[in-house]
Amino acid sequence: MIKCSEAVKELYIMIQYNNHSIKEFHTFHTDARTRLLTILANEKEAQQYLSKPAESTNRLVIGGGSNLLFTRDFEGELIQIDNKGFEIIEEKGLWVWVKVAAGENWNTLVQWAVEHGYGGIENLSYIPGTVGAAPVQNIGAYGVEFKEVFNSLEAIDLADGSKQNFYLQELDFDYRYSIFKGSLKNKFLISSVVVKLARYPKVTLDYGNLKEMAQSMSGKKIPDIVDVRNAVIAIRKTKLPNPDELGNAGSFFKNPIITHEHFDDMAELYHDIVSYPQKGGGVKLPAAWLIEKAGFKGFVSGQAGVHPKHALILINLGKAQGGEIYQLSQLIQQKVMEIFGIPLEPEVIIL
Ligand SMILES: Cc1cc2nc3c(=O)[nH]c(=O)nc-3n(C[C@H](O)[C@H](O)[C@H](O)COP(=O)(O)OP(=O)(O)OC[C@H]3O[C@@H](n4cnc5c(N)ncnc54)[C@H](O)[C@@H]3O)c2cc1C
Repeated sequence: MIKCSEAVKELYIMIQYNNHSIKEFHTFHTDARTRLLTILANEKEAQQYLSKPAESTNRLVIGGGSNLLFTRDFEGELIQIDNKGFEIIEEKGLWVWVKVAAGENWNTLVQWAVEHGYGGIENLSYIPGTVGAAPVQNIGAYGVEFKEVFNSLEAIDLADGSKQNFYLQELDFDYRYSIFKGSLKNKFLISSVVVKLARYPKVTLDYGNLKEMAQSMSGKKIPDIVDVRNAVIAIRKTKLPNPDELGNAGSFFKNPIITHEHFDDMAELYHDIVSYPQKGGGVKLPAAWLIEKAGFKGFVSGQAGVHPKHALILINLGKAQGGEIYQLSQLIQQKVMEIFGIPLEPEVIIL
């Protein structure tokens, strides 16, 4: 059983700031302020705090801020839970169940799992952010989605501090979606998550060039989870900008799903179109392809831009305001709609 910094953790107490800059609390690193910022040390403290009358009715729980765009100052209260640690709660047959504190860094969990030989999340290596946020948008990468390892979570009601458990069937997981982006949006603080990992893992390699990369980097015909993690990290490091160097929030838009008829019309005009037929019907298109075709790859508008290597990533060139990045995102949506008749939906949460 592993518990990180238990002794230290108990020394922490809630920290509150008024009218505080949030530049370092989100990965676009645009300048904005929040009326109130509350950092809660652990679950007990979160329950106590949230059971008291709220200072503001406009409350938002944040993790690492890697999926947020603040277009203006936040006129309310941002709440963060800074609990850490994970523990094995059961290990039986093919599976191990691990309970993880919401404030734990996601990639730290993946690293720990891979080092202990537990599989299922190695393809999700190096995704920024916290464990508590992973279920919110059902994070996904390289052919794997978080929902595949989700068992349950504990959450605290922002309205009265009461605790509630949520299980798989209740979360309505979908592509970059869960109930916490739908009917339960901004209603709960997730305080811990239980993931179910494989003790005898099988690797998932059928996405892009992952298999070739894992094989060539490891020199093995059949790569293991360590090799997959290494390959995913290597690919991500070459493709994605580091938010500490160039503010961004990863993919700005979701990949749209269009009808087969619409796709056939497009395929006649664009022979290089890339597509992924969906089990539930329709065809998924890479939003990056649409944005590039619309001429935006490497496009710059003031201090906001589109990454020159990856058209789906909007960037802060240094001094951008959130509003500037938002305006650029709207221009892209407008052009893609004009050219292809396809609405692009932001994956990033716009505030
Ligand atoms: C370079 C880069 C690459 C990325 N690559 C990927 C990728 O491959 N796949 C992918 O899916 N995403 C990716 N992302 C997006 C981002 O990493 C994920 O969405 C991540 O889960 C966000 O975590 P966070 O802690 O930063 O959450 P935040 O951005 O702070 O919040 C995101 C949402 O979760 C809610 N939330 C956060 N914590 C809690 C909590 N404890 N309780 C309740 N609600 C909470 C917030 O209210 C908000 O709605 C990428 C981002 C960057 C910057």
